[in-house]
Amino acid sequence: MPASDTVRIPLPDDRAYDIRIGSGLLDEAASWQGLPKAAAAVIVSNDRVAPMYAQRLRERLLAVYARVDVVELPDGEQHKDWASLNRVFDHLLAQALDRKTVLFALGGGVVGDMTGFAAATYMRGVPFVQVPTTLLAQVDSSVGGKTAINHPLGKNMLGAFYQPERVIADLDTLDTLPDRELRAGLAEVIKYGPIADADFLSWIEGNLDALLARDKAALAHAVRRSCEIKADVVGQDEKEQGLRAILNFGHTIGHAIESGLGYGEWLHGEAVACGMVLAADLSHRLGLMPADFTAQLRTLIERAGLPVVPPRLGGDRYLQLMRVDKKAEAGAIRFVLIEALGQAGLHAVPDALIVETLTAHGAA
Ligand code: NAD
Ligand code: MG
Repeated sequence: MPASDTVRIPLPDDRAYDIRIGSGLLDEAASWQGLPKAAAAVIVSNDRVAPMYAQRLRERLLAVYARVDVVELPDGEQHKDWASLNRVFDHLLAQALDRKTVLFALGGGVVGDMTGFAAATYMRGVPFVQVPTTLLAQVDSSVGGKTAINHPLGKNMLGAFYQPERVIADLDTLDTLPDRELRAGLAEVIKYGPIADADFLSWIEGNLDALLARDKAALAHAVRRSCEIKADVVGQDEKEQGLRAILNFGHTIGHAIESGLGYGEWLHGEAVACGMVLAADLSHRLGLMPADFTAQLRTLIERAGLPVVPPRLGGDRYLQLMRVDKKAEAGAIRFVLIEALGQAGLHAVPDALIVETLTAHGAA
């Protein structure tokens, strides 16, 4: 049996679940045993991932469920919408699949978020399993129970908190991931160091080349430690009343870059990477961290092949974009800042200081 790791995500009311991480998990019978019993399972995937992995998963699931269907959605963030969601519901209803049907989300964060939302709402809730196939989905989106689709007026604006039954992160699926997507996922891995674990940050610095070369042992450690940190935070603050916000380090400026350039221009992880460099600089300007920290983080992010220079959108435009951030309160823009290596908190930052940082990095 291939070696695998399990991280448990602690939640009340019988909702705790396991994240299994390892090579070969897709083909291992044990990955799919002990899930809720049902007459049917439905694999939800997209037209890029399904041709590579859906039949393999289907064969394994047929050992457990009498019937296993595959619903293939169009690939891409632009299809994370009502129309795609409805294709899932159309299938479930047309086939008269009952409220015990188990959904399997096979793909990246887009498929995972949509399948989770479908599971949360089909007949007021059916069980679902996350089978993340991007690094970003394995370290971030498949864990924690946020599900959503986009609205033309805002990203992830329609959704629900709804936890999966299990997460199966097969590291072998990352073999087919494009380099640019791998690096974007690494941005979220790097994020966990400064906010929660100084030793993990050092480990990433020492093992970045192995990660970029997709060394399985290195990836296994990176995914496991990232999931442990996310599980710990979500276990304490499932619905983002407070602490969970620290997972948004780099995201305030990151979101401004993404929406300012138009979604799809920079990948989410690329924008977050650059946003972390600027948030590090703000942490320094507020007197929380030494200037060395900004340089340290910039060096790591650059080595990961991620952008460190923000697009020149102008200070006013950045401020305008950041004021719509979900963390903004009473007009003040709030940032997740680093208070010590491995510790983060939310801080309101005066506009003048934000513009100083933007200017220093060529964004204003
Ligand atoms: P994605 O799902 O669009 O995947 C990126 C690309 O890689 C897609 O073209 C996809 O089809 C392809 N792909 C997936 N697996 C592959 C594989 N194994 N081999 C080759 N190609 C593969 O993007 P993503 O970065 O995984 O996720 C981004 C989404 O996740 C966004 O919609 C974001 O809002 C969401 N998200 C959600 C949470 C959460 O907590 N729910 C957290 C972070 C991000
Ligand atoms: Mg993110």
